[in-house]
Formats: sequence, structure tokens, C-alpha cells
Amino acid sequence: MMRVTITGTGTPIMVPGRAGPGVVVQIDGGTVFQFDVGRGTTLRLTEAGVKLPDITAVFVTHHHSDHLVGLSDLAMSHWLEQQPEQSDALRLVAPDGPAADIAERVLEPWQPEMTLRAAHTGRSANARIEVTRFEATEAITPVFASGEVTVSAIQVRHEPVIPAVAYRIDTPAGSVAISGDTAVCPNLERIATGASVLVQEAFHRSAIPDGLLSDPEAIAEYHSELSDIGEMADRAGVGTLMLTHLIPPPQGPEDKVGFVNEIKRAGYHGPVVVADDLDTIGIALHER
Ligand SMILES: [Zn+2]
Ligand SMILES: [Zn+2]
Repeated sequence: MMRVTITGTGTPIMVPGRAGPGVVVQIDGGTVFQFDVGRGTTLRLTEAGVKLPDITAVFVTHHHSDHLVGLSDLAMSHWLEQQPEQSDALRLVAPDGPAADIAERVLEPWQPEMTLRAAHTGRSANARIEVTRFEATEAITPVFASGEVTVSAIQVRHEPVIPAVAYRIDTPAGSVAISGDTAVCPNLERIATGASVLVQEAFHRSAIPDGLLSDPEAIAEYHSELSDIGEMADRAGVGTLMLTHLIPPPQGPEDKVGFVNEIKRAGYHGPVVVADDLDTIGIALHER
């Protein structure tokens, strides 16, 4: 059994009830992968029932702040939830570049505070983030392996943000692809092909209210439009489409239907979830 839960469906724009971008994938046998760490991720993980010390690794798609700003909170909470005699580092995997640099430095300003807290609570070391870098390329590349589970990455199109990657988790129970932030592009389609679930960022251009975005065209260029998502998901044979990073955020069921209709019009007729925070999908072995 594998469980995919959205820890945040938001964007840089503040919206009540929508935490910053993130997805947690829990796999039978104790593997817990968190993808991106936006605002509120740590709280959402706890609400989803995840014990922070159980996190196997954190994966970052790119260095936009909405995907990373929750990292210091997660790292320090991961540390404080461990027994005092334990002080395992939080493992983090990121494309070589600014996201990895930020992850290596994000705890620096907190060292005096952590030293004080460690001494006061009998902890053997301060919180640490152990960063593994990989080179983002145009080929699907394995970046992490644990038993029968493999995580791969590929470069996607989110210029001027370089590098930006999509991920794919392959397990005996099935596969999950995670778009990160990107325009729909051939590399995204390749890594999403045959996935049981595609967690996909979504830009609903025709629903953008006047004044929400200063330059909708510029946003459209580096995000995924619904018509492009629908065409791609159909070609790629995606099992279930889970839309997140929702621009604009749906205000209610009617707005969600608007997202789904445009996906269907573009040719994808599988199940579509226009996600709220903590929406979850389970993938059983027999669904492979
Ligand atoms: Zn974003
Ligand atoms: Zn971004």
C-alpha cells in the first residue's frame, strides 16, 4: 500500500486553509518521503498522522521560496521530536544549485538557540540537514533508492528558475509522479507516463480574476495550463490526476468543476482530484 497526501495546495499567494506546496508519500514498510516544504508543511504532516522522525527523506523540486520556506521549521521539529539521546539529521535530496545551498545554510542562524536548547534538554547535537545533491538533466535519473523503492528526477521547464525538477517514485505497489512547478513539457510527460497518480500543478487561465496576478501571461509561461495537462495526462496514461498548486485557488465546488471540465475537454477522462490540503489517495498492490 502506498498513500499520497497533499500537505499543501497553495502557492506564494496567501490563502486561508491552503498551506504552501508539499506532498507526502507513505509506503508500506515505513518509507516516508516529503516532496517540497512550503509554509505550514510541518503542521500538515502532523495533521496527516506522520511522526516527523519517521521521515525517510525530503525532496526539493526547485528553489522558489513557496516550496522551501518551511524547511527550518521541519528540520527543528524533526530534531525536537526525537529522543534526546538521538539526533539524526534530516535527509534532504535536491538538484545541485540554490535549493541545496539554502538547505545547507537554513539552520545557521539558529545555532545559538539550538545549542542553548540542546544543553537544557540533554540533547547530544543540534538539528542537522544532510543534503544530497544530484545533477538535474534531461534524462530520467535515479536519485534515491531504499529497498524496492526508487525515486527518480528529470529537469522540467520553470525558467527562469533553473534547475527545476519533477520526481517519480516507483514501488511494487505502483508509481507516483510529482510535477513540481513547470509548464507542460516532454520531460514531464516522460516521467509521468504510466504513473498510478500524477500530482500536478495547475494554472486555470480562464478563471483568473482581474487583479489577482500582475502579469498572467508571464505566469502562464512557466506553469501548467489545464488544456495542456489534459492532453498530456491522456497520452501518458496517467491513472489518477491530483491537481495542486492551484492558481487561482478554487473558492468552492463550482470552481473545482471548472478545473475538471477543462481537463476533460482536453481529452483526459480518468479520475481528477482538485485537491484540498490533506486530500489523500491510497494505491493498493493489486492496482499495479
Ligand atoms: Zn510554486
Ligand atoms: Zn516555482
